Amino acid sequence: MLDDNCIFCKISNKEIPSKLLYEDEFTVAFNDLNPQAPNHILVIPKKHFASLNELDDEKYMSALLNAVKEVTKKLGIKEYRTVINTGETAGQTVFHIHIHILAGRPLLWPPG
Ligand code: 5GP
Ligand code: ZN
Repeated sequence: MLDDNCIFCKISNKEIPSKLLYEDEFTVAFNDLNPQAPNHILVIPKKHFASLNELDDEKYMSALLNAVKEVTKKLGIKEYRTVINTGETAGQTVFHIHIHILAGRPLLWPPG
């Protein structure tokens, strides 16, 4: 269920105390340590899935998107970008799936 060496497992099971912006049975959301925009939130499942490729449980899939909607609504963020980096070449550095929410400044497209 949880991976002992995974930083996001430690955040989701509260082994590392963090300010949670949203929490439900399946997910938590918190601020990114190294924000790339005025709002930079990460939404993660409470169960360890290394990436979107390993995410095979529809409960968690729907809960993650629902959490994006709930946390943005709660913070009054109406326009935002969501990103899931999958694999090293796509920019994934933490191998516990997470959805980035970026907002608060104009965002370029395509991303680098
Ligand atoms: P990735 O590059 O895997 O898509 O995104 C990983 C994100 O996690 C990065 O934006 C990085 O700043 C963030 N991050 C890494 N370690 C921590 C941590 O311990 N706490 C928080 N809040 N964010 C982290
Ligand atoms: Zn994990």
